[in-house]
Amino acid sequence: MYFFTLASSSKGNCALICAGDTKLLIDAGLSAARLEKALQAVGERPEQLTAILLTHEHADHVQGVARLAYKYSLPVYATPKTWASLSEVPAYLQNDYSYGLQLGDIALDFCKTSHDAVQPVGLVFQAEGKRLAYITDTGCVTRGMLAALTAEPLAGLVLEANHDRQMLLQGPYPYALKRRVASEQGHLANAQTAELVSWLWQRQGVCPVMLAHLSETNNTPKLAYDTAAAVLSRQISVAELPQWLSVAPALGQSLVWQLD
Ligand SMILES: [Zn+2]
Ligand SMILES: [Zn+2]
Repeated sequence: MYFFTLASSSKGNCALICAGDTKLLIDAGLSAARLEKALQAVGERPEQLTAILLTHEHADHVQGVARLAYKYSLPVYATPKTWASLSEVPAYLQNDYSYGLQLGDIALDFCKTSHDAVQPVGLVFQAEGKRLAYITDTGCVTRGMLAALTAEPLAGLVLEANHDRQMLLQGPYPYALKRRVASEQGHLANAQTAELVSWLWQRQGVCPVMLAHLSETNNTPKLAYDTAAAVLSRQISVAELPQWLSVAPALGQSLVWQLD
């Protein structure tokens, strides 16, 4: 199984997970043309995708989904209520997530996130005996997230580290937007993410973590990394940390996780 992100920020999100012949695109938050180019740039072809999986209906996750799905006849999966906001995806390509869903070689589980979308989810993938969790766009750590993260040890965790709280409060966003981002239906701050990873590592051992969905206005890759590093140095030395902790770039391919 391998995994990487192609875009990860408040402006657009997309990742790819592959096992055997199964290739799943996670969110499609760039234009279809940019998604095609981004896939081709890393040697992947849109026509070889098995399906597109959506976490929720916000534009930074769905911008290119309708066109990409239609052009390549790709089934798209989302939660039942999410479809009401995505009528531009042809009905015959719309599929609901269901418990125990298996797409080719990859089994899928999901958890509720806490976000101002209709029915948002985080995704957990299982293939070749490995589990990988992908959770962005949540204002707090939900019970469902904890259950999904701790059900079995993870081989990889992609987790939102959206903003630095100080940068958000002192930054240029209007007050209402600051409140929204910082709320329980908004996004995780660096410090919240760091505490969750630390708790998880303590509970079930160290696994590779990729910090994702950074705000380009209220965060920097260095700040997200350093905030996590300061907390995680309780468990692992700062020198060893780069083996376990990385930051997904806003655009372009992240570190490729080879999870065999
Ligand atoms: Zn988002
Ligand atoms: Zn969102």
